[in-house]
Amino acid sequence: MLSVLKHPLAEHIITHLRDRTTKPATFRTLAYQLTLMLAIDATRDLATEEKMVETPLESTPGRVLSTQPIVVVAILRAGVSMVQPFLDVFPDVSVGYVGLERDHVTAVARSYYCKLPPLEGRRVFVVDPMLATGGSAAQALEVVKRSGAVAPRLVCIIAAPEGVAEVATRHPDASVHIGVLDRALNDRKYILPGLGDFGDRLYGT
Ligand code: URA
Repeated sequence: MLSVLKHPLAEHIITHLRDRTTKPATFRTLAYQLTLMLAIDATRDLATEEKMVETPLESTPGRVLSTQPIVVVAILRAGVSMVQPFLDVFPDVSVGYVGLERDHVTAVARSYYCKLPPLEGRRVFVVDPMLATGGSAAQALEVVKRSGAVAPRLVCIIAAPEGVAEVATRHPDASVHIGVLDRALNDRKYILPGLGDFGDRLYGT
C-alpha cells in the first residue's frame, strides 16, 4: 500500500527542500514540518478508545489514543532527522536505530549498527527520508520484522518508483507513506529530480 501526501503545504515544503539554495538550517526546519505531516498521515488509523471528559460546561464523551505504544526506527544517518516530529506529537514513543550505509559505488546497503527497543505488540514506523533503490529500507524492514514487528510502516519524504517497487516486492505486508513520488533514479542511484544527498543537505557536509 502506497500513500502519498496530498496537501498544498506539503508541495510548498517539498519545493523548498528541493531548492539547492535552501540552507541547512531552513532545510532542517522544512524536513521537520514535512515529517510532522507524514507522521500524522501515517497514523490516521491508530486505535482510539472512548473517554468521558469534563469541559468547563458539561461532561462529554471523547476519544483518546489506545495504549498500544509506537516505535520509530530511524535508518542512520538521515532518518534521525525524522524522529523528533513523532516524539513531539505522540505521548508514548520509543526509538530504535538501524545503521545502514549505502556504498557510493555499488549502491548496496551494508549494516553496521542495530539498537532496537521491544517491538512485539507495538506499531512500528521505519523512517528514512529518501527511498531510492529500496535496498536499505527493505533491509531495515527485514530487521524490525525479525525482531517482532508486524506490518511495519515505512515513512519517507521522497521516493523513487524503483524503491517503492523493491519494498512492495520484498515486504507486501508493509505500507509506505511518502511526501512525493519522483520520476526515477539516475545512474548513481540518486533520485530525480530529488533534492541531492539528504544527509549532506541537512548537515551542510
Ligand atoms: N539518498 C539521498 O540522500 N538522496 C538520493 O537522491 C538518494 C538516496
